[in-house]
Amino acid sequence: MSSANNQEPIDMVKAEELAGFSTAEILQWALEKYSPAIALASSFQVEESVLIDMMHRLRGSNFRVFTLDTGRLNQETYECMDALRERYGVQIEVFFPDAGAVERMVRSHGLNLFYQSIENRKMCCNIRKVEPLKRALSSLNAWITGLRREQAVTRDGVSKVEIDRNFGNIIKFNPLADWSASQVWDYVRENKVPYNKLHDRGFPSIGCAPCTRAVKPWEDIRAGRWWWENPESKECGLHAQPAAPAGAQSALQVEAVG
Ligand code: SF4
Repeated sequence: MSSANNQEPIDMVKAEELAGFSTAEILQWALEKYSPAIALASSFQVEESVLIDMMHRLRGSNFRVFTLDTGRLNQETYECMDALRERYGVQIEVFFPDAGAVERMVRSHGLNLFYQSIENRKMCCNIRKVEPLKRALSSLNAWITGLRREQAVTRDGVSKVEIDRNFGNIIKFNPLADWSASQVWDYVRENKVPYNKLHDRGFPSIGCAPCTRAVKPWEDIRAGRWWWENPESKECGLHAQPAAPAGAQSALQVEAVG
């Protein structure tokens, strides 16, 4: 497999060993191995605040963060973005959807097409999220996410290190895969990490404004995302299918870490 930036091919992850590493150790290994062709994908939920704080402890401001501005985000998300930029001195690489594709979509289907059908919702996610993500990942050899297994039924198979079959077989690190919500919030409080204030208003999971609502304390943490759909369909295409655990990839060789 050739790498995205013509560097050394990606054939070198010992997934079983990395899975036993701490979150900071995984981040350190990943950043040393793949920088500058590695970046955190952030939608400015609390998990990404934790990862930004941890990466800053490891590398100062010398790490990359990108985000997808769908054009339908909440103001609190932009405020969180600026708070993190200011606190950690890190540039946020913002990717926007193709303007022509958005114009054609809303002319044909209206601005709130996502409520009409799953097909329309997926079309909107595809244009506003998936295509910009493809552009963001096209120059990377690896990406980092804040996915946690307990977030959703669609995420209970998330591994700490995966081969992302959806996006060119690049490496995908999910260093918080086995963290609980309590661990995340303990970390934020102990380290006074800036976070998206929507979390204080009943939003455990944050996405685009028209597709996310607050949840009741007894509801599932992803109940407020596309609340009119079944839980099984609640992904936007960024993490649609489980990536293959890196250790299960026979076609990709594995080498010792450290
Ligand atoms: Fe469109 Fe909603 Fe998907 Fe955002 S979450 S891209 S507004 S369908």
